[in-house]
Amino acid sequence: MDRKANAQMESDTARGLTKREFLKLGGLGALSLLSIAASLGACGARKKPKNWAWLSEDRFPSRDAWGRMFDKMKRHGVDAALVLAKPDTIRTLVPVAREAGIELHNWIISLMCGDEDVRKNHPDWFVVNRLGVSCLEKPPYVPYYTFLCPSRPEVREYLAARVSELAEIDGLAGIHLDYIRYPDVILPVGIQPKYNLVQDREYPEFDYCYCPVCRQAFKSQAGVDPLSLEDPPGNADWVRYRYDSVTQLVNQLIPLAHGRGKMLTAAVFPSPTIARKLVRQDWPSWRLDAFHPMMYHEFYNEGVPWIGEVTREGVEALAGRAKLYSGLFVEWLPPEKLKRAFQLAMQNGAAGLCLFTASHMTDEQWTALKEAVREFRG
Ligand SMILES: [Zn+2]
Repeated sequence: MDRKANAQMESDTARGLTKREFLKLGGLGALSLLSIAASLGACGARKKPKNWAWLSEDRFPSRDAWGRMFDKMKRHGVDAALVLAKPDTIRTLVPVAREAGIELHNWIISLMCGDEDVRKNHPDWFVVNRLGVSCLEKPPYVPYYTFLCPSRPEVREYLAARVSELAEIDGLAGIHLDYIRYPDVILPVGIQPKYNLVQDREYPEFDYCYCPVCRQAFKSQAGVDPLSLEDPPGNADWVRYRYDSVTQLVNQLIPLAHGRGKMLTAAVFPSPTIARKLVRQDWPSWRLDAFHPMMYHEFYNEGVPWIGEVTREGVEALAGRAKLYSGLFVEWLPPEKLKRAFQLAMQNGAAGLCLFTASHMTDEQWTALKEAVREFRG
Protein backbone atom coordinates (compact mmCIF):
# COMPACT_ATOMS: atom_id res chain seq x y z
CA MET A 1 0.00 0.00 0.00
CA ASP A 2 1.42 3.37 -0.90
CA ARG A 3 1.88 6.23 1.53
CA LYS A 4 -1.13 8.12 0.27
CA ALA A 5 -3.36 5.14 0.83
CA ASN A 6 -1.91 4.71 4.28
CA ALA A 7 -2.61 8.35 5.06
CA GLN A 8 -6.19 7.89 3.92
CA MET A 9 -6.55 4.86 6.11
CA GLU A 10 -5.06 6.66 9.08
CA SER A 11 -7.53 9.49 8.62
CA ASP A 12 -10.29 6.88 8.52
CA THR A 13 -9.31 5.51 11.89
CA ALA A 14 -11.73 7.71 13.72
CA ARG A 15 -12.30 7.73 17.45
CA GLY A 16 -8.81 6.60 18.29
CA LEU A 17 -9.18 3.15 16.84
CA THR A 18 -6.15 1.35 15.54
CA LYS A 19 -6.14 0.18 11.94
CA ARG A 20 -7.03 -3.37 12.96
CA GLU A 21 -9.88 -2.20 15.15
CA PHE A 22 -11.12 0.04 12.39
CA LEU A 23 -11.21 -2.93 10.04
CA LYS A 24 -13.42 -4.66 12.57
CA LEU A 25 -16.13 -2.09 12.10
CA GLY A 26 -17.24 -3.96 9.06
CA GLY A 27 -15.33 -1.70 6.82
CA LEU A 28 -15.90 1.66 7.05
CA GLY A 29 -16.59 -0.38 10.68
CA ALA A 30 -39.26 -12.37 20.19
CA LEU A 31 -38.88 -12.51 23.41
CA SER A 32 -40.14 -16.03 22.76
CA LEU A 33 -40.87 -18.56 25.41
CA LEU A 34 -37.82 -20.39 24.15
CA SER A 35 -35.49 -17.50 24.86
CA ILE A 36 -37.02 -16.85 28.26
CA ALA A 37 -36.59 -20.51 29.07
CA ALA A 38 -33.00 -20.37 27.88
CA SER A 39 -32.22 -17.45 30.16
CA LEU A 40 -33.69 -19.18 33.19
CA GLY A 41 -32.09 -22.13 34.88
CA ALA A 42 -33.89 -25.27 35.97
CA CYS A 43 -34.98 -23.81 39.31
CA GLY A 44 -35.93 -20.40 37.95
CA ALA A 45 -32.62 -18.72 38.75
CA ARG A 46 -31.12 -16.79 35.89
CA LYS A 47 -28.17 -18.29 34.12
CA LYS A 48 -24.89 -16.49 34.33
CA PRO A 49 -24.32 -14.53 31.13
CA LYS A 50 -21.13 -15.19 29.25
CA ASN A 51 -19.58 -11.95 28.08
CA TRP A 52 -16.85 -11.55 25.49
CA ALA A 53 -14.58 -8.78 24.22
CA TRP A 54 -12.68 -8.12 21.01
CA LEU A 55 -9.03 -7.15 21.49
CA SER A 56 -6.34 -6.19 19.02
CA GLU A 57 -2.68 -7.13 19.29
CA ASP A 58 -1.45 -3.64 18.45
CA ARG A 59 -2.89 -2.26 21.72
CA PHE A 60 -0.72 -4.39 23.97
CA PRO A 61 3.05 -3.91 24.11
CA SER A 62 3.88 -6.66 26.62
CA ARG A 63 2.79 -9.87 28.24
CA ASP A 64 2.18 -7.89 31.45
CA ALA A 65 -0.15 -5.50 29.64
CA TRP A 66 -2.16 -8.47 28.35
CA GLY A 67 -2.24 -9.96 31.83
CA ARG A 68 -3.56 -6.73 33.33
CA MET A 69 -6.30 -6.46 30.71
CA PHE A 70 -7.37 -10.09 31.09
CA ASP A 71 -7.53 -9.64 34.89
CA LYS A 72 -9.61 -6.49 34.53
CA MET A 73 -11.99 -8.18 32.12
CA LYS A 74 -12.46 -11.15 34.43
CA ARG A 75 -13.08 -8.94 37.49
CA HIS A 76 -15.83 -7.08 35.64
CA GLY A 77 -17.80 -9.97 34.21
CA VAL A 78 -16.06 -10.78 30.90
CA ASP A 79 -15.21 -14.44 30.35
CA ALA A 80 -13.78 -14.74 26.84
CA ALA A 81 -11.40 -12.76 24.62
CA LEU A 82 -11.41 -12.64 20.81
CA VAL A 83 -7.85 -11.59 20.02
CA LEU A 84 -6.69 -10.33 16.62
CA ALA A 85 -3.06 -11.42 16.53
CA LYS A 86 -0.58 -13.56 14.66
CA PRO A 87 -0.34 -17.24 15.60
CA ASP A 88 2.99 -16.70 17.43
CA THR A 89 1.43 -14.05 19.67
CA ILE A 90 -1.59 -16.23 20.30
CA ARG A 91 0.67 -19.06 21.48
CA THR A 92 2.34 -16.77 24.03
CA LEU A 93 -1.05 -15.58 25.27
CA VAL A 94 -2.43 -19.03 26.07
CA PRO A 95 -0.85 -19.23 29.56
CA VAL A 96 -1.56 -15.54 30.28
CA ALA A 97 -5.26 -15.97 29.55
CA ARG A 98 -5.40 -19.24 31.45
CA GLU A 99 -3.91 -17.61 34.55
CA ALA A 100 -6.57 -14.89 34.45
CA GLY A 101 -9.39 -17.37 33.85
CA ILE A 102 -10.12 -15.97 30.40
CA GLU A 103 -11.16 -18.22 27.49
CA LEU A 104 -8.92 -17.36 24.53
CA HIS A 105 -10.07 -17.27 20.91
CA ASN A 106 -8.14 -16.12 17.84
CA TRP A 107 -10.03 -13.50 15.84
CA ILE A 108 -9.03 -13.65 12.15
CA ILE A 109 -9.78 -11.55 9.09
CA SER A 110 -10.92 -14.15 6.58
CA LEU A 111 -12.23 -13.22 3.10
CA MET A 112 -10.84 -9.69 3.14
CA CYS A 113 -7.24 -10.30 2.20
CA GLY A 114 -4.18 -8.08 2.43
CA ASP A 115 -1.72 -10.98 2.14
CA GLU A 116 0.94 -9.80 -0.29
CA ASP A 117 1.79 -13.33 -1.50
CA VAL A 118 -1.83 -13.99 -2.40
CA ARG A 119 -2.25 -10.61 -4.08
CA LYS A 120 0.90 -11.09 -6.16
CA ASN A 121 0.58 -14.76 -7.04
CA HIS A 122 -3.18 -15.26 -7.17
CA PRO A 123 -4.86 -12.11 -8.46
CA ASP A 124 -7.59 -14.33 -9.95
CA TRP A 125 -8.74 -15.32 -6.46
CA PHE A 126 -10.29 -11.88 -5.87
CA VAL A 127 -13.92 -10.94 -6.46
CA VAL A 128 -15.02 -9.25 -9.69
CA ASN A 129 -17.96 -6.81 -9.89
CA ARG A 130 -20.85 -6.63 -12.35
CA LEU A 131 -18.80 -4.25 -14.54
CA GLY A 132 -16.10 -6.93 -14.84
CA VAL A 133 -13.61 -5.10 -12.64
CA SER A 134 -11.56 -6.97 -10.03
CA CYS A 135 -11.52 -5.48 -6.54
CA LEU A 136 -7.75 -5.87 -6.69
CA GLU A 137 -7.54 -3.31 -9.51
CA LYS A 138 -10.23 -1.00 -8.16
CA PRO A 139 -11.26 -1.69 -4.57
CA PRO A 140 -14.69 -0.35 -3.59
CA TYR A 141 -14.89 2.42 -0.95
CA VAL A 142 -11.34 2.23 0.46
CA PRO A 143 -7.97 1.00 -0.83
CA TYR A 144 -7.74 -2.04 1.44
CA TYR A 145 -11.19 -3.39 0.48
CA THR A 146 -9.93 -6.43 -1.40
CA PHE A 147 -11.92 -9.64 -0.91
CA LEU A 148 -11.33 -13.24 -1.97
CA CYS A 149 -14.06 -15.09 -3.87
CA PRO A 150 -15.74 -17.62 -1.55
CA SER A 151 -16.71 -19.85 -4.51
CA ARG A 152 -13.11 -20.63 -5.54
CA PRO A 153 -11.84 -24.03 -4.41
CA GLU A 154 -8.33 -22.53 -3.95
CA VAL A 155 -9.70 -19.85 -1.64
CA ARG A 156 -11.54 -22.44 0.40
CA GLU A 157 -8.32 -24.45 0.67
CA TYR A 158 -6.36 -21.35 1.68
CA LEU A 159 -8.78 -20.56 4.52
CA ALA A 160 -8.99 -24.22 5.52
CA ALA A 161 -5.19 -24.25 5.89
CA ARG A 162 -5.30 -21.15 8.11
CA VAL A 163 -8.00 -22.59 10.36
CA SER A 164 -6.21 -25.96 10.52
CA GLU A 165 -2.96 -24.31 11.60
CA LEU A 166 -4.70 -22.39 14.39
CA ALA A 167 -6.68 -25.43 15.48
CA GLU A 168 -3.35 -27.07 16.38
CA ILE A 169 -2.59 -24.49 19.09
CA ASP A 170 -2.90 -26.18 22.48
CA GLY A 171 -4.97 -24.23 24.97
CA LEU A 172 -6.71 -22.09 22.38
CA ALA A 173 -10.50 -22.33 22.84
CA GLY A 174 -11.61 -21.29 19.39
CA ILE A 175 -11.24 -19.45 16.10
CA HIS A 176 -13.39 -16.41 15.32
CA LEU A 177 -14.08 -15.48 11.69
CA ASP A 178 -14.40 -11.84 10.71
CA TYR A 179 -15.00 -10.44 7.21
CA ILE A 180 -16.58 -13.74 6.23
CA ARG A 181 -18.68 -12.10 3.55
CA TYR A 182 -18.78 -10.19 0.26
CA PRO A 183 -17.91 -6.49 0.09
CA ASP A 184 -20.92 -4.40 1.12
CA VAL A 185 -23.20 -4.20 -1.92
CA ILE A 186 -24.99 -1.61 0.22
CA LEU A 187 -23.22 0.18 3.06
CA PRO A 188 -24.90 0.66 6.46
CA VAL A 189 -27.18 3.67 6.03
CA GLY A 190 -25.29 5.79 8.57
CA ILE A 191 -22.01 5.34 6.67
CA GLN A 192 -23.21 6.14 3.13
CA PRO A 193 -22.93 9.96 3.54
CA LYS A 194 -19.22 9.60 4.39
CA TYR A 195 -18.70 8.33 0.83
CA ASN A 196 -21.25 10.68 -0.74
CA LEU A 197 -23.36 7.69 -1.71
CA VAL A 198 -27.07 7.02 -1.77
CA GLN A 199 -27.35 3.25 -2.16
CA ASP A 200 -31.07 2.83 -2.69
CA ARG A 201 -30.46 -0.33 -4.71
CA GLU A 202 -27.61 -2.64 -5.77
CA TYR A 203 -25.30 -0.70 -8.08
CA PRO A 204 -23.05 -2.71 -10.43
CA GLU A 205 -19.73 -1.37 -9.16
CA PHE A 206 -20.46 -2.73 -5.66
CA ASP A 207 -22.17 -5.96 -6.78
CA TYR A 208 -19.89 -9.05 -6.55
CA CYS A 209 -18.92 -11.71 -7.67
CA TYR A 210 -18.95 -12.19 -11.42
CA CYS A 211 -15.58 -13.95 -11.72
CA PRO A 212 -15.30 -16.82 -14.25
CA VAL A 213 -15.69 -19.43 -11.49
CA CYS A 214 -18.92 -17.90 -10.19
CA ARG A 215 -20.37 -17.35 -13.66
CA GLN A 216 -19.62 -20.93 -14.70
CA ALA A 217 -20.87 -22.46 -11.47
CA PHE A 218 -24.14 -20.54 -11.64
CA LYS A 219 -24.57 -21.35 -15.31
CA SER A 220 -24.22 -25.06 -14.72
CA GLN A 221 -26.70 -24.80 -11.87
CA ALA A 222 -29.30 -22.40 -13.31
CA GLY A 223 -28.59 -22.64 -17.05
CA VAL A 224 -27.80 -18.96 -17.45
CA ASP A 225 -24.77 -16.68 -17.13
CA PRO A 226 -25.52 -14.19 -14.33
CA LEU A 227 -24.12 -11.39 -16.49
CA SER A 228 -26.84 -12.01 -19.06
CA LEU A 229 -29.66 -11.77 -16.52
CA GLU A 230 -31.95 -8.83 -17.16
CA ASP A 231 -32.01 -7.84 -13.49
CA PRO A 232 -29.27 -9.68 -11.56
CA PRO A 233 -30.18 -8.21 -8.12
CA GLY A 234 -33.80 -9.26 -8.70
CA ASN A 235 -32.97 -12.87 -9.55
CA ALA A 236 -33.66 -14.97 -6.47
CA ASP A 237 -31.49 -17.88 -7.64
CA TRP A 238 -28.48 -15.65 -8.23
CA VAL A 239 -28.94 -13.98 -4.85
CA ARG A 240 -29.21 -17.41 -3.24
CA TYR A 241 -26.10 -18.67 -5.05
CA ARG A 242 -24.01 -16.07 -3.29
CA TYR A 243 -25.54 -16.69 0.15
CA ASP A 244 -24.84 -20.39 -0.35
CA SER A 245 -21.27 -19.81 -1.49
CA VAL A 246 -20.33 -18.21 1.85
CA THR A 247 -22.42 -20.74 3.78
CA GLN A 248 -20.66 -23.69 2.11
CA LEU A 249 -17.26 -22.19 2.85
CA VAL A 250 -18.11 -21.65 6.54
CA ASN A 251 -19.60 -25.09 6.95
CA GLN A 252 -16.50 -26.67 5.38
CA LEU A 253 -14.29 -25.00 8.01
CA ILE A 254 -16.28 -26.30 10.98
CA PRO A 255 -14.95 -29.89 11.11
CA LEU A 256 -11.37 -28.57 10.92
CA ALA A 257 -11.93 -26.64 14.17
CA HIS A 258 -14.14 -29.22 15.88
CA GLY A 259 -11.77 -32.05 15.01
CA ARG A 260 -9.20 -30.38 17.25
CA GLY A 261 -11.67 -29.51 20.00
CA LYS A 262 -11.95 -25.83 19.00
CA MET A 263 -15.05 -23.69 18.75
CA LEU A 264 -15.74 -21.84 15.51
CA THR A 265 -17.59 -18.52 15.80
CA ALA A 266 -18.07 -15.41 13.66
CA ALA A 267 -18.56 -11.65 13.75
CA VAL A 268 -21.58 -11.06 11.53
CA PHE A 269 -23.78 -8.15 10.50
CA PRO A 270 -26.37 -7.12 13.12
CA SER A 271 -29.48 -9.05 12.08
CA PRO A 272 -30.08 -11.83 9.54
CA THR A 273 -32.12 -9.42 7.37
CA ILE A 274 -29.44 -6.72 7.30
CA ALA A 275 -26.65 -9.27 6.87
CA ARG A 276 -28.25 -10.84 3.80
CA LYS A 277 -29.12 -7.50 2.23
CA LEU A 278 -25.82 -5.68 2.77
CA VAL A 279 -23.12 -8.36 2.61
CA ARG A 280 -24.86 -11.62 1.58
CA GLN A 281 -24.35 -13.35 4.92
CA ASP A 282 -27.17 -15.84 5.43
CA TRP A 283 -25.73 -16.55 8.85
CA PRO A 284 -28.64 -18.50 10.38
CA SER A 285 -27.64 -21.24 7.87
CA TRP A 286 -24.11 -21.49 9.23
CA ARG A 287 -23.58 -24.33 11.68
CA LEU A 288 -21.25 -22.38 13.98
CA ASP A 289 -21.03 -22.69 17.75
CA ALA A 290 -21.84 -19.04 18.39
CA PHE A 291 -22.46 -15.73 16.63
CA HIS A 292 -21.30 -12.26 17.62
CA PRO A 293 -23.46 -9.89 15.53
CA MET A 294 -22.04 -6.36 15.35
CA MET A 295 -24.97 -4.31 16.65
CA TYR A 296 -23.22 -0.99 16.13
CA HIS A 297 -26.38 1.09 16.32
CA GLU A 298 -25.13 4.47 15.12
CA PHE A 299 -24.01 3.00 11.79
CA TYR A 300 -27.70 2.30 11.20
CA ASN A 301 -28.95 5.63 12.60
CA GLU A 302 -30.53 3.73 15.48
CA GLY A 303 -30.73 4.10 19.24
CA VAL A 304 -30.15 1.64 22.07
CA PRO A 305 -33.63 -0.05 21.87
CA TRP A 306 -32.70 -1.35 18.40
CA ILE A 307 -30.07 -3.57 20.07
CA GLY A 308 -32.95 -5.48 21.68
CA GLU A 309 -34.82 -5.73 18.37
CA VAL A 310 -31.93 -7.13 16.33
CA THR A 311 -30.97 -9.46 19.18
CA ARG A 312 -34.49 -10.89 19.11
CA GLU A 313 -34.43 -11.38 15.34
CA GLY A 314 -31.11 -13.24 15.51
CA VAL A 315 -32.10 -15.43 18.47
CA GLU A 316 -35.34 -16.44 16.79
CA ALA A 317 -33.59 -17.22 13.50
CA LEU A 318 -31.05 -19.44 15.28
CA ALA A 319 -33.88 -21.20 17.17
CA GLY A 320 -31.56 -22.55 19.82
CA ARG A 321 -29.01 -24.09 17.39
CA ALA A 322 -26.24 -21.71 18.53
CA LYS A 323 -25.64 -19.00 21.09
CA LEU A 324 -25.84 -15.32 20.19
CA TYR A 325 -23.76 -12.63 21.90
CA SER A 326 -24.80 -9.05 21.14
CA GLY A 327 -21.80 -7.08 19.86
CA LEU A 328 -21.66 -3.51 21.17
CA PHE A 329 -19.68 -0.46 20.05
CA VAL A 330 -18.76 0.73 23.54
CA GLU A 331 -17.78 4.29 22.68
CA TRP A 332 -21.41 5.05 21.86
CA LEU A 333 -22.60 3.57 25.15
CA PRO A 334 -21.83 5.63 28.26
CA PRO A 335 -22.39 3.69 31.53
CA GLU A 336 -26.18 3.94 31.79
CA LYS A 337 -26.68 3.12 28.11
CA LEU A 338 -24.28 0.19 28.38
CA LYS A 339 -26.36 -1.19 31.26
CA ARG A 340 -29.53 -0.72 29.23
CA ALA A 341 -27.98 -2.45 26.21
CA PHE A 342 -26.99 -5.40 28.39
CA GLN A 343 -30.53 -5.67 29.81
CA LEU A 344 -32.13 -5.47 26.35
CA ALA A 345 -29.76 -8.10 24.95
CA MET A 346 -30.47 -10.52 27.80
CA GLN A 347 -34.24 -9.92 27.79
CA ASN A 348 -34.31 -10.75 24.10
CA GLY A 349 -32.49 -14.04 24.38
CA ALA A 350 -28.77 -13.25 24.02
CA ALA A 351 -26.39 -15.42 26.01
CA GLY A 352 -24.27 -12.34 26.79
CA LEU A 353 -22.48 -9.37 25.26
CA CYS A 354 -19.38 -8.86 23.16
CA LEU A 355 -17.55 -5.55 23.67
CA PHE A 356 -15.86 -3.71 20.83
CA THR A 357 -13.36 -3.29 22.30
CA ALA A 358 -12.14 -4.01 25.82
CA SER A 359 -9.40 -1.40 25.30
CA HIS A 360 -11.97 1.35 24.81
CA MET A 361 -13.88 0.71 28.03
CA THR A 362 -13.62 3.42 30.71
CA ASP A 363 -13.49 2.56 34.42
CA GLU A 364 -17.07 3.86 34.71
CA GLN A 365 -18.21 1.50 31.95
CA TRP A 366 -16.45 -1.48 33.56
CA THR A 367 -18.23 -0.69 36.84
CA ALA A 368 -21.58 -0.37 35.06
CA LEU A 369 -21.08 -3.72 33.33
CA LYS A 370 -20.25 -5.46 36.60
CA GLU A 371 -23.36 -3.97 38.24
CA ALA A 372 -25.56 -4.93 35.30
CA VAL A 373 -24.38 -8.55 35.44
CA ARG A 374 -24.95 -8.67 39.20
CA GLU A 375 -28.41 -7.11 38.95
CA PHE A 376 -29.40 -9.50 36.17
CA ARG A 377 -28.56 -12.53 38.23
CA GLY A 378 -30.48 -11.09 41.19
ZN1 LIG B 1 -16.32 -15.38 -7.86
